Amino acid sequence: QNINIVDYLKYCVEDLSFDLEKKNANINLNNEKEEIFVTADLQKLKRVIVNIVDNAMKYMDKQNPKIDINLIDNREYVTIEVKDNGIGIPKESIPFIFDRFYRADESRNTSISGSGLGLSICKQIIESHGGNMWAESEINIGTSILFTLKKYKGNDDHEKNSNN
Ligand code: ATP
Ligand code: MG
Repeated sequence: QNINIVDYLKYCVEDLSFDLEKKNANINLNNEKEEIFVTADLQKLKRVIVNIVDNAMKYMDKQNPKIDINLIDNREYVTIEVKDNGIGIPKESIPFIFDRFYRADESRNTSISGSGLGLSICKQIIESHGGNMWAESEINIGTSILFTLKKYKGNDDHEKNSNN
């Protein structure tokens, strides 16, 4: 389907805020534009977002939990960043978090349960859409999970002759 990813993320955020409010957590969507079209399987995209937000909620800062979803409009694709202020992931573990059954020590040693499959499924879905997925994280500061989706080029969004 061709969908407006801005609208779709707004809808996801509304859907998720109910759960998050119960945990006293905050979720925000920051978008530069009101309309960016991508071609995506909605059911699969939903799984990606739910999985990432589920992690953010599981590994979140207990004091003042916050999730920011940032939507960045690039020329050929959009980048979606889901950023939390949770426990973070050790540098040496970051390359493995998208592997099947991998869980960082920090999460294995706690009562937080999981099978280590969530992110490997997310990555597989994003790659099947022609996008990329990666992570940036700092211990005790937080984690960003980022992914790209190719823009739908059939519509006439007039690129202005600005820089870049
Ligand atoms: P599952 O998703 O199958 O229930 P899981 O959450 O442990 O289990 P993944 O979602 O694949 O597995 O994540 C892999 C590992 O990456 C996690 O176990 C955790 O160590 C780390 N991780 C993922 N997201 C975050 C995050 N937002 N903050 C801190 N650590 C994270
Ligand atoms: Mg998970």
